[in-house]
Amino acid sequence: MMEKLSAKEFDRNLDDVLERLEKTGRKDKVILLAATKTVDAETINYCLSKGIDYIGENKVQELLSKHEQISPCHRHFIGHLQTNKVKDIINRVEMIHSVDSLKLAKEISKQAFKNSKTMEILLEINIGGEESKWGFTPESLEENLREIAKMPNLKIKGLMTIPPICNQKEENRDYFREMKKLFVDIGAKNIDNVSMDVLSMGMSDDFDIAVEEGANLIRLGTALFGRRIYK
Ligand SMILES: *Cc1c(COP(=O)(O)O)cnc(C)c1O
Repeated sequence: MMEKLSAKEFDRNLDDVLERLEKTGRKDKVILLAATKTVDAETINYCLSKGIDYIGENKVQELLSKHEQISPCHRHFIGHLQTNKVKDIINRVEMIHSVDSLKLAKEISKQAFKNSKTMEILLEINIGGEESKWGFTPESLEENLREIAKMPNLKIKGLMTIPPICNQKEENRDYFREMKKLFVDIGAKNIDNVSMDVLSMGMSDDFDIAVEEGANLIRLGTALFGRRIYK
């Protein structure tokens, strides 16, 4: 699936990423999560050996196939999640970024309860209001969040977004800014069982802008591992 990436190439990519991050002036505030879709376990383990502690998978099947071979690290789920697959990952990840419906939240709550654990979740926001995207609209966020906050064995830790694909990376700045505002506004409401700690936004093309606008967790695939062929 993926051409093997040499250690040297990875090191160079990581240096470039850290340099871009440095320029934002907020490097110390940001968690760098490696988005590891299509990346083999060996490469992931190399990446972990270089000081990245967080990985995110976005397909359940792929996560299960690599899980055992990956060195200890913080594992997150970042892709669209079908309710019938929640049980497969409930004991394998510590955070789910992509909670995009009440139905999904309810199922995570149920499976977490069954497994005597509390799952940390982020609510996914469709910040561009795109027809094709998963997530809550900014307008529906608060009402849904208040419902989810009542569900047992869940802890709402923040928000996540994937902004519209655009040619000019500066175009996403307004979306990131809008996300930061939502994040702060919701946090200020002091809702039980909600702590707005994690603002997950920014990918390879635009992470510096996301960080400038307040992201504290960025999800990087291409910038670290090179261009891959996605199915
Ligand atoms: C693939 C993926 C990323 C990383 O995207 P790049 O543009 O390759 O950095 C981030 N978040 C999610 C949800 C993804 O699926």
